[in-house]
Order: sequence, then structure tokens, then C-alpha cells
Amino acid sequence: MQLAWSPEDEEFRTDLIAFLDEHTPEQMLVGFDFQDVDDERELVPQWLRDWQATLFDHGWMIPGYPSERGGRNCTPVQTLIYLETLASRRLIRSGHFPGYAIVAPSLLEYGNEEQQKLVPAAIRGDTIWCIGMSEPNAGSDLAGLQTRAEVRDDHFVVNGQKVWTSYAMIAQKCFCYVRTDPTLPKHKGISLLIIDVDTPGIDIRPLRHISGTAGFAEVFFTDVIVPRENLVGGLNGGWAITQGSLAHERAGLWVEGVARFEQTIEGLVTLARQQGRAGDPIIRRKIASAYELAASLRALGYKGFASFAQGSSAPEHSYMKMAMSEASKAAFELGMEISGSLAPVTDPVFAASTNRFVHGFFMSFANTIAGGSSEIQRNIIAQRVLGLPRR
Ligand SMILES: Cc1cc2nc3c(=O)[nH]c(=O)nc-3n(C[C@H](O)[C@H](O)[C@H](O)COP(=O)(O)OP(=O)(O)OC[C@H]3O[C@@H](n4cnc5c(N)ncnc54)[C@H](O)[C@@H]3O)c2cc1C
Repeated sequence: MQLAWSPEDEEFRTDLIAFLDEHTPEQMLVGFDFQDVDDERELVPQWLRDWQATLFDHGWMIPGYPSERGGRNCTPVQTLIYLETLASRRLIRSGHFPGYAIVAPSLLEYGNEEQQKLVPAAIRGDTIWCIGMSEPNAGSDLAGLQTRAEVRDDHFVVNGQKVWTSYAMIAQKCFCYVRTDPTLPKHKGISLLIIDVDTPGIDIRPLRHISGTAGFAEVFFTDVIVPRENLVGGLNGGWAITQGSLAHERAGLWVEGVARFEQTIEGLVTLARQQGRAGDPIIRRKIASAYELAASLRALGYKGFASFAQGSSAPEHSYMKMAMSEASKAAFELGMEISGSLAPVTDPVFAASTNRFVHGFFMSFANTIAGGSSEIQRNIIAQRVLGLPRR
């Protein structure tokens, strides 16, 4: 058994570090935080867009991809080195994940030649994409979506509503799931359309998170004309793509998730010291438990990665999304407890030390819902991983 990195892996790491040392934007070094963004038009600042383009241009946006797609054909182990190095420096690749993490891999799998030409701009971040899945009556039960697309000659006419659509306010394109045949069983009558967000008939109304940050929107479609060639993967072939879309979203997320959780725990230690609670045995025990959990999650992530790198499925990763988002929520709740009387104060002028925990606490609920709620994840683990009967 070889427990050391190979010389090629070490060389890969050296190249990455040299690149990051030279190119990391100053704003990221001083600790950029999305909580500082309260104007939805500034959701992805220009310097962050430039950073994504720089990563792409140097083959560092998705290094596992071939060079013609802005990668460097690296191995899964090198991708792990890449993700861990970024996470340890608290660097993010992009301010808008749908394009590179969901749209690009989905188009590479299901798109035609013409549609695949959209991939480089999605990965480089030149095109901002949003994902139109959820509707007021279709979230966990995505197959119940009702936004209707009627086929007429060479185009579709779309009517309906999406909700919780992240980045819709700044997106140029929407990966939009629509019902094309209401007579078929619900999973079978769904198609995927690429819709230009500036098409007449689209009305975007921003929604704010409980934290006050603007991140997503409601999107209304009234008689929106979409060319026939914007159909991805065949008429009524959308359901298979929805399954891939969410899988793409989850792949590799655990590395960043565990690192963030560990950083939250470091923040809890600092906060406990600042608030004079570091000697409190209950607080100490709770922080220690969170630390243990982080170590277990990291070990589980590596175990899953080992299976994945050898070409097997990694059921551990089904658990990681749910476990990390719930653990992170509990850690932020502990931060609120340590903050004491400052817990409800969100204004950094009055509560500089606790403010980020308050904001993090509010945002920590989002990850237990987005991309499939914890309850739905538990159902999936019970049925698909543990093989328990459906009730
Ligand atoms: C920050 C954020 C960003 C998002 N971005 C996007 C986006 O870009 N595009 C997009 O399309 N959507 C997006 N969403 C929406 C997200 O996918 C949905 O909120 C999620 O799938 C849950 O759907 P829902 O809100 O309709 O809740 P519901 O499905 O109505 O669920 C309500 C509650 O009931 C529980 N529940 C539902 N069904 C079951 C069941 N069978 N068993 C047990 N419990 C159940 C749920 O866990 C939840 O607690 C985003 C959400 C958030 C929070």
C-alpha cells in the first residue's frame, strides 16, 4: 500500500500553489463574504467573474476536464488535491455554481453538438445560468411541476412559474424543466428547455433570504416563445436529466463542505474566547463533539472517495450532504448560544464579533433544504442505500 503522494501528484500541487500564489484576487485574501452583498445586481462582483475566467484560462477551473474544456486531464486524486488546496485557503472558484457544476456536465451528457458549444462559456462564467426546477407546488416532488410548454410548429410556448431560482436576477440563460405532455404519467411528460432570460414574457421578482441577502427569485413565464432547437435531450426526456443534474451538484461538494464545517468550529473556539465562554464545560463539550463529528465526516468522505476513484459507487456521499448541512446548522446554533445577548444583533457596527455567526445561523437553514431537503435525503438513504422498504 502506498500512503505517500506520487511525484506527479506533488508536481500537480506545486503548479497549483504557484498559480494560486500569483493569481488569487486580493478581495478573497481579505475574506470576502457573500453576506456583504445586499444588492442582487452585485450578487457576483466583477472581480469574482474575472477570477473564474482566470482559472478557466489557465486550466484550473475544472482540472479533471480535458484541455479543450479548460481543464488539464488530471486524475481523481489530483482533483481531490485541487479541491482540498482551495478549501484550505478558503478560496471559491466561482460566485455562481449552476453553469459549471450543473449545466456544463448535463449538456456534455445530453446536449447536441450545437448545445455543447455553450459549455465553455458556462464553465468560464461568461454566461450566468439559473436552474428552473422548483415551483410553488413542486419542490421535493419535482415530478409534479406544472410549468407548461406547448409545442407549436418550430417553437414552444411556455406558461407558468418557477420559484427559489438562484441567480435568476443576473442570469442570461435558464435550464428550465417544463411539462410538455400532461397526458403522460408525471415523470414522463417533462422536458428540458434552454430559455434566454431576456425573452419577452419573462418576469423576474427577487426574493430575499431570511438573512436579508438577495440570492434567488420567482420567475413568471407568460406566452414565452422558445425555439424548438432549445430542447435538450429529446421531447419528454427531461426526467433522466433531472437525476443527473442533482448528482452533478453533489459530486465533490463534500470536500468544501467538511472544510467549511471545520472552519466554523475554529470560529466557535475564537468566539467562545471572545465572549468569555471558553471555560464553560457545556460549551467546551459541545465544541469538542462538533470537532469529533467533523473528523468522522472527513474520514467518511475519504472512504467514499477511495471507492469513487476505483470506479465504484460511493454511498457515503449520499449521507454527506445531509450530515454536513445538519451539523453546520447545529454549529451555528451553538454560535448563537455562545453569543448570548448579542445573538439577535445583525448589525456589524454593534456586534462585530458575533455578526457573522448570526448571519451564518440564518443561512445554515438553506443548505438543509436546497438541492433536496434533509428529510428527502433520509428517504433516499433509507431506500437506495440501506434497501429499507418504502412506507
Ligand atoms: C438557498 C436555496 C437555493 C435554491 N435554489 C434553487 C434553484 O436555483 N433552482 C430551483 O429550482 N430550486 C432551488 N431551490 C429550491 C429547493 O430545491 C427546494 O426548496 C427543495 O427542493 C424543497 O422543496 P420545497 O421548498 O417546495 O419544499 P416542500 O417539498 O414543499 O417540502 C416542505 C417540507 O416537507 C418535507 N417533505 C416533503 N416531502 C417529503 C417526504 N416525501 N417525506 C418527508 N418529508 C417531506 C420537506 O423536507 C420540507 O421540510 C433552492 C432552495 C434554497 C433554500
